[in-house]
Amino acid sequence: MQTIKKFPKIDGDLGWYETSPGKDEVFGERLKGVQHADITIIGAGYTGLSLAHRLAELNPDARIALVDALRVGQGTSGRNAGFIIDLPHNLDAGKPDIEHDQMLYRLNTFSISRLREFKERHSIDCNWHHAGKYMAAHETSNLEGLDSFVTTLRNNRFKYEDLSSAELKRRLGTEYYQRAIYTPDNILMNPSSLVRGVAKALPANVRVFEQSPIIACEYGSTHVVRSVGGEIRSRCLIQTTNSFSEEFGQVQNRLAPVFTYASLTEPLSDSDYQACFNGVEPWGLTSAHPAGTTVRLTNDRRIFIRNVLDFEPQLSSNVHGLDAAWQQHRRSFERRFPKLAHMVFQYTWGGMLCMTLNHQSVFMDCGDELYVVGGCNGVGVAKGTYLGYYMADYINQKSSAELDFILAHSQPSWVPPDPLRTIGARIRLKYESRNAGGDI
Ligand SMILES: Cc1cc2nc3c(=O)[nH]c(=O)nc-3n(C[C@H](O)[C@H](O)[C@H](O)COP(=O)(O)OP(=O)(O)OC[C@H]3O[C@@H](n4cnc5c(N)ncnc54)[C@H](O)[C@@H]3O)c2cc1C
Repeated sequence: MQTIKKFPKIDGDLGWYETSPGKDEVFGERLKGVQHADITIIGAGYTGLSLAHRLAELNPDARIALVDALRVGQGTSGRNAGFIIDLPHNLDAGKPDIEHDQMLYRLNTFSISRLREFKERHSIDCNWHHAGKYMAAHETSNLEGLDSFVTTLRNNRFKYEDLSSAELKRRLGTEYYQRAIYTPDNILMNPSSLVRGVAKALPANVRVFEQSPIIACEYGSTHVVRSVGGEIRSRCLIQTTNSFSEEFGQVQNRLAPVFTYASLTEPLSDSDYQACFNGVEPWGLTSAHPAGTTVRLTNDRRIFIRNVLDFEPQLSSNVHGLDAAWQQHRRSFERRFPKLAHMVFQYTWGGMLCMTLNHQSVFMDCGDELYVVGGCNGVGVAKGTYLGYYMADYINQKSSAELDFILAHSQPSWVPPDPLRTIGARIRLKYESRNAGGDI
């Protein structure tokens, strides 16, 4: 029996969830009593949901159980910055190899189409916006991050614009950045609304259990997963619990979950909006430095800030971590928008980027119809969506070039055990944060 010791927690005030139009709608029950299913999935984020949808398409008669410790939309899938990135992203930088980049692009755009289809077919109200994305630098020392991005874009003939400070002031409403590369096909949205909408769209043969942390697993010809007062028995079990995967005993020394934090302001007043953003379209920006700040001006006129990288082996944050992040968010916000220094942050929260050292994901067949998918390396809206989809194909023995690519690039490298992992990660993150300078 594998006992789970670390569990997902709420980690602050979850801005996207709280501002999501359907947040009070309950569509999952708590797991109580003995339940029987053909397939159980633990983890209802983008990965688990995509997997559940595809499994249901391929096996319309199967009884599929999908269980999460929190309510759908409260996990990391509902806490992120809301970018669905079409291009090979800096955080996701694998080999500098055109064939590799083209396949990542194909997989990412496949995920965007699939999520768009759910959004349209089920009228998911998630502020979906085909806004593109700016990758920007404030510091001269970080301009080289943009140059290497441009090399990837040119090699692959991806469309982009190279923008100067003056043009950025006009398009972003801030003169903070020296230069940015704009790429047109990134999607921005409220990630909690979208993930909840995708869950609501599940067909009737998928039964959702929310607020039901799995506390133990017994692996065998029938897998049993237990919550307090309930269990599910099934022949097939798939774990899509991301940063919590090692708790379930199948993946060891492969993951480096990095805590990061986000804040969302109250909505801007008409006068503030006119003063700073007159004629500016909502936008999303990531940093040329991997430890830099992500910023958005949202469709509902709020400003979103994400930064701070920390290693928390407990896999949860605390009020002091949240307070330190809030203080950094204030500094980053006021530097970019000095005229808005009077605005308060309505929400500040934390969540984990489930990193691997070589940026490859976990896509694992453990035998006995037991599988693990995880390690989305900070780009999980697109990556989790395609990994979940293709894990369903793998289980159903459906072959494709995409699945072959995923199988060939899912060998995450070894991470030393704690305390070495924690010490190493903290030194590295401190070093990266110092180097990011004013891009934080
Ligand atoms: C602040 C922030 C900003 C980010 N920005 C972006 C972005 O803009 N774009 C992007 O693509 N990615 C972004 N990411 C990363 C992205 O959110 C993740 O890659 C994505 O959520 C991974 O999806 P997933 O389904 O694999 O995992 P998760 O979303 O983590 O889902 C796993 C689920 O498993 C559940 N679980 C864990 N343990 C148990 C248990 N014992 N019992 C039951 N359930 C359990 C959890 O509650 C959770 O809901 C960001 C992350 C953070 C924290």
